[in-house]
Amino acid sequence: MSKGTAAKGLKRNKGRLHIRCRRCGKAAYHKIKSVCSSCGYGNSAKLRRYNWHKKTVSKIRIIAKIKQHMNKRKKSGFKLD
Ligand SMILES: [Zn+2]
Repeated sequence: MSKGTAAKGLKRNKGRLHIRCRRCGKAAYHKIKSVCSSCGYGNSAKLRRYNWHKKTVSKIRIIAKIKQHMNKRKKSGFKLD
């Protein structure tokens, strides 16, 4: 095969390969691979995280804390309405 064709063959559609991700909201969701390069949506149920990336790590910790708190409230029998 020639040099350029293989990579171009993957492109298939015009315009953007990455669209807005359903889970994290960033334009990092790959249309063809159907995987988000930012949060790992489509690849795993867990959020993609690395210890060298402090922002995401802190974000995930905050989300976990909120979930804990909500579970506590559910146990004590609160209602949204
Ligand atoms: Zn994402």
